[in-house]
Amino acid sequence: MSTVTEDHKKNAKSETTSDILLEVKGLKKYFPIKAGILQRTVGHVKAVDDVSFFIKKGETFGLVGESGCGKSTTGRAIIRLYEPTAGEIIFDGENIANIPEKSLRPYRKDIQMVFQDPYSSLNPRKTVGTILEEPFRVHNLYSKKERKERVEHLLEKVGLNPSLRDRYPHEFSGGQRQRIGIARSLTLNPKLIIGDEPVSALDVSIQSQVLNIMDDLQKEFGLTYLFIAHDLAVVKHISDRIGVMYLGRMMEVTDKKTLYRNPLHPYTQALLSAIPKSHPSEVKRERIILKGDVPSPANPPAGCVFHTRCPQAMDHCKQAVPMLQELEPGHFVACHLYE
Ligand code: SF4
Repeated sequence: MSTVTEDHKKNAKSETTSDILLEVKGLKKYFPIKAGILQRTVGHVKAVDDVSFFIKKGETFGLVGESGCGKSTTGRAIIRLYEPTAGEIIFDGENIANIPEKSLRPYRKDIQMVFQDPYSSLNPRKTVGTILEEPFRVHNLYSKKERKERVEHLLEKVGLNPSLRDRYPHEFSGGQRQRIGIARSLTLNPKLIIGDEPVSALDVSIQSQVLNIMDDLQKEFGLTYLFIAHDLAVVKHISDRIGVMYLGRMMEVTDKKTLYRNPLHPYTQALLSAIPKSHPSEVKRERIILKGDVPSPANPPAGCVFHTRCPQAMDHCKQAVPMLQELEPGHFVACHLYE
């Protein structure tokens, strides 16, 4: 059995390196815990701890897990809103994990983020037209007339009437605001869009509309998505491959079909058992209730971080950290049960 880094390399080769847009290797993000008058560092919150995965061009990679598992921190570290503590972020062939802000500028255009709460990320004092034109102005792109046309085109693409360009964010519904957020993420023709729980705050009926728009835009513009969500049902709708995180670590990575048909990690099995069947042909899963709460990432359990709640934990799990290993082609699992 080989480790994830070797397997990623192997996989990267079989996919051909040019098929991969983003490769995250051994990513860590630790936040210091300060205490006392001198604000000394007394510990670290290990929000992301040795996470590896890759995303192929044009695919959607879903990243799921309960709140506090490190999925959003992973997204923010990739876009360098948080400086990674360690690891590599290879985007389009270049490791951007540690490059200075100046060299990062071209990548800022290529990687865009859509946030959970579009309202807080849209300036309430600016019209939607002004908000959408802003990236063009910052990058000194196009004439005034072209900017106006492009903004109207973007509004159309996300299913909004271009005449709404002179309205303010508060005049739109939550779903419409998220469409504006998506339109803004598209202004500079990015290669990768990181959606940080982009539909979690919306009603279920609106969620599917926004997901369908994202799907259509992906096909039209050849976009690649990193889709972060806590809800496995939402991720199932949009993802090609899925990574499951728990307490800062990657537990399982595989394609969507395999994950839903044959989840191997006890944590993934528990998460899936909580989803109601959406079709009569689906396998009926026995509900697995996990005991206890998620431990604090400031003091994660030794060995397998899931051992305090795992129904199949063994003594060995309390001591040794299971490595993410490829058990079948493209199916990676971090669990001692399969060693
Ligand atoms: Fe459970 Fe042990 Fe596997 Fe962790 S390594 S998921 S504790 S069986």
